Amino acid sequence: MVSKYFPNPFEMEGEWFKGNLHAHTTQSDGSLSPLDVCKLYKAYGYDFLFITDHRDVTPIRDLSKSFTGNFLVFKGIELDVPSSEIDTKYHIIGLNVKNKIEYRDPQKCINEILREGGEALIAHPYWSSLTVHDLLKIRGYLGIEIYNTHCHYSVSKGFSTVHWDDLLSRKHYVLGFAVDDAHWYKDKLPMDACGAWIMVKAPSLSEDSIMNSIRRGLFYSSTGPEFFDIKFNDEEIYVKCSPVTSISFISRNGLGFRFNAEGNTITEISCPLDNFEVFLRIELESSDGGKAWINPIMLSE
Ligand SMILES: [Zn+2]
Ligand SMILES: [Zn+2]
Repeated sequence: MVSKYFPNPFEMEGEWFKGNLHAHTTQSDGSLSPLDVCKLYKAYGYDFLFITDHRDVTPIRDLSKSFTGNFLVFKGIELDVPSSEIDTKYHIIGLNVKNKIEYRDPQKCINEILREGGEALIAHPYWSSLTVHDLLKIRGYLGIEIYNTHCHYSVSKGFSTVHWDDLLSRKHYVLGFAVDDAHWYKDKLPMDACGAWIMVKAPSLSEDSIMNSIRRGLFYSSTGPEFFDIKFNDEEIYVKCSPVTSISFISRNGLGFRFNAEGNTITEISCPLDNFEVFLRIELESSDGGKAWINPIMLSE
């Protein structure tokens, strides 16, 4: 009998809230002011945003007043610290961090982010040339960016799903986050903002409620497609989603399945649970190239 670990957002009470966890402003190298960044995300239907400028925490006190009730702005930071096995820097996002952090060591940065009551993400592993060894030697981070809009449109290094699978194959459970890392906004096309997000299931749009749900993995990531339901019985897993051209069930080495819609679209599928080892994750792809990812389901005998 295989047991499963999967905090299933579709079985939780609450509402869905859309958010971006990584954005820059004129406080570092972004092209829009903090207020204009918030206005843009709100106009694109986002419910919350983390402002994560480089190396310092951007003040947001006045911003929160501008959007009372229906748009939540979080403080955050992005730290670049040496050093990976090929001497590149780790970029580490501190979510909900209120004070500047200055350590020059990735583990010390993560520890300090957690001590501040925040959560740490490893930004764009592919863009940073991080390997699985770099990711295994640090502890305490909540997850990695599996997709980064800016890294995709600037140097075609947006996807870090291989890094995710490498960690999961070694039973190292981390969450996967699709983020924008917006810098240039409308200065260039395609815009590097409002292209990726997480959908969080939470009781309300408050700081504690959103942070708790992110911490517990009660979200999925997307650049377009939507998940509507995930259900299990002992033999099968069932997925319901917006119309997509493929639904993939990804596991260790060559295990798994990809169901292609063969020129059409599909909106639901049941998949037998007997061809996976260690982990299983589900990925959607739509006809315009949009993707969506649930968090991993960890399997053990
Ligand atoms: Zn970065
Ligand atoms: Zn960034």
